Amino acid sequence: MGEFELIRRYFQRVGGANPAVALGIGDDCALLQPAPGTQLAISSDMLVVGHHFFPDVDPEALGHKALAVNLSDLAACGARPLAFTLALSLPRADEAWLAGFARGLFALADAHNCTLMGGDTTRGPLNICITVFGEVPVVNGRSLALLRSGGQVGDELWVSGTLGDARLALEALQGKRTLSAELLQVARQRLERPTPRVALGQALRGIATAVMDLSDGLAGDLRHLLQASGCGARLDAAVLAALPAARDASLDEAARLALVLGGGDDYELLFSAPAGQQAEVQAAGRAAGVPLTRIGRLEAEPGLRVVDTQGRELPGHYTSYDHFA
Ligand code: ADP
Ligand code: MG
Repeated sequence: MGEFELIRRYFQRVGGANPAVALGIGDDCALLQPAPGTQLAISSDMLVVGHHFFPDVDPEALGHKALAVNLSDLAACGARPLAFTLALSLPRADEAWLAGFARGLFALADAHNCTLMGGDTTRGPLNICITVFGEVPVVNGRSLALLRSGGQVGDELWVSGTLGDARLALEALQGKRTLSAELLQVARQRLERPTPRVALGQALRGIATAVMDLSDGLAGDLRHLLQASGCGARLDAAVLAALPAARDASLDEAARLALVLGGGDDYELLFSAPAGQQAEVQAAGRAAGVPLTRIGRLEAEPGLRVVDTQGRELPGHYTSYDHFA
């Protein structure tokens, strides 16, 4: 099977494309036509074998995750997915692997009406780079895109879903932890099949003041939002420690706190909203079918503080993943 046969067999599909895709796979360029009154939101994410996933990971889960992490970026800016490109470097044309990868990829793509419109295929170490394109409304000349920079002192901080489970699974798969079979299954699902919060992102337009998705861990990611918004934050330790879905006796509160703050790969949304907008926030969560938790608030004092129920600041500085640290 040659390069073009591979593309045709596994990645080129007939019909069902998002109407914004004016021209898909097959020419030198694809053509994308955003609707009038919208602007394009664009994001790329690369997954490298050995760094972002284990070489023997289920290819179907990998296909899902490669697109999920990109859709999560669109979710964070409140964009509606339209299309994506796929640049793929493969050590060999393994048909079972390709079929599984394409299955996972297209199941998620179809669920979001996001069309594969082009890409590149080369031989090399396994490496997957996806670029997604989404659209955000522009109303009266103003973009409705959600940014990291809109947080205001006094706003409350919220997260969607559960946090810390992906890190828990990673530590178990690396042999650093032993988990019961049930717990490992819950955590592993979160690591290998994250759910991008696409509907929530769009529901938060006009409500959230600052939004980002959590990919490297809450503590580090939140610092980016704080920096962009020019403020600090106070987080409630007891609330954070209750965020992992996988909970059992082997994990005390401190361990759960560390997973939540320092973990990564959660692909949940972190956002700020005015304190008076709790009902609107909760309604957005219900409409999107995802639970939301209030974890703290934005303050004028710079930096990140994690406090116990008495308001005492917990010691320790909280960091998260950095590829070059
Ligand atoms: P070019 O050499 O002009 O860059 P290619 O020969 O690499 O184009 O690719 C042929 C067509 O197949 C192009 O339309 C390209 O976008 C598409 N394509 C290549 N690889 C992929 C892939 N992995 N997924 C989707 N489309 C792809
Ligand atoms: Mg090429």
